[in-house]
Formats: sequence, structure tokens, C-alpha cells
Amino acid sequence: MPQLASYLCGAFATGKGEMVPLLNPATEEVVAHAGCGGVDLGAALRFAREQGGPALRALTFAQRGELLAKLASTIADHRDELIETSVANGGTTRGGGKFDIDGAAGTLQAYAELGKKLGAARELVDGEPVLIGRGAKLAGRHAWLAREGVAVLINAFNFPAWGFAEKAATALLAGMPVINKPATATAWTAVRLAELLVAANVLPAGAFQQLLGGVGPLLDALGPQDVVAFTGSSATGTTVRSLPALLRHGVRVNVEADSLNAAVVGGGVEPGSSAWQTLLRDVVREMTEKSGQKCTATRRVIVPEALVAPLVEELADRLGALKIGNPANKEVELGPLATRQQRDDLHAGCARLRKSCEVAFGVERPATLIDVPAGKGFFAGPMLFVARDAKAVDETHRDELFGPVTTIVPYSGAPNDAIALVGRGGGMLVTSVYAEARDWCETVAKGIAPWVGRVCLVDSKSEGITLPPGMVLPDLIHGGPGRAGGGEELGGARGLHHFMGRTAFEGPRALVERLFGAGT
Ligand code: NAP
Repeated sequence: MPQLASYLCGAFATGKGEMVPLLNPATEEVVAHAGCGGVDLGAALRFAREQGGPALRALTFAQRGELLAKLASTIADHRDELIETSVANGGTTRGGGKFDIDGAAGTLQAYAELGKKLGAARELVDGEPVLIGRGAKLAGRHAWLAREGVAVLINAFNFPAWGFAEKAATALLAGMPVINKPATATAWTAVRLAELLVAANVLPAGAFQQLLGGVGPLLDALGPQDVVAFTGSSATGTTVRSLPALLRHGVRVNVEADSLNAAVVGGGVEPGSSAWQTLLRDVVREMTEKSGQKCTATRRVIVPEALVAPLVEELADRLGALKIGNPANKEVELGPLATRQQRDDLHAGCARLRKSCEVAFGVERPATLIDVPAGKGFFAGPMLFVARDAKAVDETHRDELFGPVTTIVPYSGAPNDAIALVGRGGGMLVTSVYAEARDWCETVAKGIAPWVGRVCLVDSKSEGITLPPGMVLPDLIHGGPGRAGGGEELGGARGLHHFMGRTAFEGPRALVERLFGAGT
């Protein structure tokens, strides 16, 4: 049975004391143990700040980009075995595992290319030079320079590879060393990834470390140049951002939390149309990929009343045909949830929803499971709910049911009603708008924007070209206001800003231009 090891101060070491068992969520077999007792976190912080940071900052963006390209190819070269651990410990289907692993390699590669584009520089200029005063002699310019601390990356259970990679790509390219803290329940993939990256011997000493188990007193030891990049539930995000040590030292904290993402249908979309087909594809995919355990999955489908019946019928047909069971069997299309706790939380949420919604399709525990020992596994069946009264139902707009479940919310079809319902989610990572009428689409897209980090637009021209809304793209920002955490990641060079500080330089124009160029 593997004892999973942290990678700190340049060495792998298993924790001492209490060990947490990691399970296969389809069979409940123990696949590994992890623990964090006895590690020297102070030494890890010093190692990052004193060795990793200076070594990275000495490199240009292009050189840091070359490191990222090697990390990306290391992951791509070991794709199959990483997918295996994702299936065995995360309960994902092979497709769900690929989404995580390929997403990790793709994001690192995208930032490798950005590094190449940024070239020989080590800092990012921000905007054009500003002439100060009446003469042309005094100028000012803004620039982003790497922070001199360590970036602590805290990740959720559902993306052990991509969650690490999207944070590490931006931090390392910015010039900051990282300490990654994967979620314990699904840490096996993160540990295997760390072993591969260390064996590839690509990064300077201290640029990458990984801590298993709880964070312990790590966050209390952070200082003004450090950064915390957190992904997880709103509750844990609130705990992290409220830590006195982080507040006292002004430690930058980015929170990516949960989200009541929506799909909004209107503006003349008819059953059978091209936009309708895209809607069906997206809803089923977002409900079932990684068993609906994606922060970007669609939780609410806001649909004109007249379209509810045909939508339920077509979704039910597709969901009813899914093969559910142990994802080690390649025929399986929907696997278990990652942990017993996730399954129990989901079922408690379904019980709350049942009070204000009709169950239009599905049951909490599917009757037939492929290749699963009797009574075992953290399974949840795909379920469609329909809200009885869209405006009166609080649970639909408040509880993130983290599984293969979505609620159809009937409404009038008027743009302002759609906007108001989307906003009731309190802040989302993503919302997609399915419409044929351009005016309707524009009104809704701009109306919901204050509540949403990314808006996906779908019309009759989208079929075959549009990506599912749950797919996060490295060139576009990922994050959302309000309950989604208020954070922002990725977005090309914007993603680097989180790990850099912006400073205004002012002085004689020739001197400012010598430091940062004359602008365009
Ligand atoms: P979680 O329970 O909040 O845990 C997230 C991470 O925080 C884990 O690594 C966890 O470690 C750690 N943690 C727990 N308590 C902590 C504390 N007191 N101080 C510091 N770290 C602590 O969330 P989860 O169940 O793993 O993930 C599911 C949630 O993440 C969902 O709500 C989902 O929407 C959200 N999510 C959001 C995004 C996004 O980009 N916005 C992406 C993925 C997931 P342990 O595992 O060791 O407890």
C-alpha cells in the first residue's frame, strides 16, 4: 500500500503520526495513505524564499516559459498512468481523468508560449508612459515585478492536476516559487505528478514543493510578499481569507469557491434548432463529466415555461441511456462521487430541493451499477429537478449540489426576468446564454455580466464550434464575483499579476524610459 510523500526541501518524505486512508470511490478499497505529521514547514518556506524565488527571478520570461514547456511535456508523456490514478483514486471515468490531465498539460503549454512571447523581459509594463506636469521632462510608468515570497497553492479534490497546473503555470512564469497543497482525498494523482516533475529535474531547487495532509501552521507563517491561491468551498475560503496572520501582513489571497452556474435559454430558441442541440449537449456534459463535480458545472437551467416539457423529455432520454458504475470498466460513462462525504452532502441537498421542486428524472442511488461490489461505492444517480416557483425557491439559487444534478427553472422568457434569476445565485464562475435573437442575447449577456466571471454565447452559428461552458481556457479569466470567491485566475498575462506587485515609477523621462522603454 503506497505511503504518499510530501516533497519538501528537495526530498520526498512520508508524514509521521496519523495517516489518512485514500479510497477508490467506486469500491471503497484503500489505495494509499497520506499524512503530514513531523514536517518542517519553516524550512520549506525558507527553501522557497531563499533558493527557489531568486533562481526563478534570475530567469527571463522566455526561460521560465521553457521550464513550463518541459513540465507540460512531462505530463503529456505520462498521460495514461496519470489517468489511471485519477480513475482509481478520483473515481473519474477516463474522459474525466483526461479533462484534468490534458487540462494541466495544455495550461502549462499555453503559459510556456506566453513566456516565449514575453521574451527577454523579467517584468511586465502596464500601460503607456504618462507625462507629468506641463513640460515633457517628467514621466511616470507602471510595471509589475515578481513578488519575493512564496505562493501557497491550496487545491480542491476535483482537479488534482489542472488545479495545480493553472496556479503553478502563472506563479512560476511570474517568477514565484510554489508550495502545492492538494486536497487529501484525491492526492494520489498530485503525488504521482510531483514524482514525475521532480524526476524530470526541470525546475530550480526550491521552485516547487508539495505538502500533503492539512496545511497545519503554514498559513500563519506567511508574510507580506507571500500569496495564497485557494480553490475549494466557500466555507473554507472564508476561513482562509479571515486568518489573522494573513490579514495582519496583507498577504494576497485569491479565492476560487463554489458557484451556482446557470444556462439561460430564450430569444427565440426552439426545440430541434441548432442552439437547442448545443444546449442539450452542454447540459448533459456538465451534469456528467467528472460526475458533475466541476466548479463550472451548470447547476440551473433557466428556461421559458413552454420549453420545460420538451427539455425534460430530451434530457431524460440522454441521461437514462448512461452507463453508471466503476470507471475502471471503460464502458462506464458516469462514475461515483469522490468521497462518502460528497455523496452524503449531495443527497442531503437533494432532500432539501425535493421540498420546492419536482423530480423530473432520476433517483438518488441508481439501481444498477456496473462492476461495483454490492452496497459499495459513493454513487449518485443523475437527477433533474424542476422548480415549482422559480422566484420562491431559495435552495435552487443557494445550494451548490456538487454532483450529477441540475435544476430547471421555468421563467417568462423576458430578458429582465432571466437576468434577475441568474443574479440570485449571488456570483457565478460561468453562465451560458442560448439565444437566436441578437438583441435579446446582448441584453441578457450584459445584464448578467456583473454577476458572472465568464459568459458563453451560443446561437444558431455555434454548433460544432462552441466549447462547453465548463471548459476553462488559459487565455480567458477564470473566477467570479460574490459567492464564487471574488477571485480571478488565468486570462493570459493577467494571471501573472496575482503573483507580482504593481509599482508606479516616476522621474526624469529619460530615466523612466531607460527602465521600461518609451512605449508605443
Ligand atoms: P474544501 O473542503 O473547501 O477543500 C479545499 C482545500 O482546502 C483542500 O485542499 C483542503 O484540504 C483545504 N482545507 C480544508 N480546510 C482548510 C483550512 N482550514 N485551511 C486551509 N486549507 C484547508 O473543498 P473541496 O471539497 O476539496 O472542493 C469542492 C469545492 O471546491 C466545491 O465547492 C467547488 O465548487 C469548489 N471548486 C471551485 C473551483 C473554482 O475554480 N472556483 C474549482 C474546483 C472546485 P483537505 O483536503 O486536506 O481537507
